[in-house]
Amino acid sequence: MHSVTKRIDFCYGHRLLEYDGICRHPHGHNATVEVELRSETLDGRNMVADFTDIKRLVKTWVDRELDHKMILRHDDPLVAVLRSMGEPVYTLDSNPTAERIAQLIFEVAREQGLPVARVTVWETPTSSATYAL
Ligand SMILES: [Zn+2]
Repeated sequence: MHSVTKRIDFCYGHRLLEYDGICRHPHGHNATVEVELRSETLDGRNMVADFTDIKRLVKTWVDRELDHKMILRHDDPLVAVLRSMGEPVYTLDSNPTAERIAQLIFEVAREQGLPVARVTVWETPTSSATYAL
């Protein structure tokens, strides 16, 4: 099995609702995302995928939708407040944990047709969450 991994850095803010810890307060992270693609065979270029294509398909989406945005649960009262101030917000149907953000990016990569096998979101240099096949 062949595997390639592209690393993507982005910044985001979030908070967790109904959570008894410091992450219930709005705060931010400098996140690193690893997008791993796997394939049993290589294409005509001897590649699983061109790193440039992963960047174009996934990093472009992350930069546009998540980078320097607040990622909030859709029913968080902050959503309306921030939007009324013209601030960008990305909403999820559940708490915006690193686990949920990893799943989101996994689904985006799969929708782009990439043979994604794993997405890991490093929320801090010592804490990561993975969504994988
Ligand atoms: Zn956090």
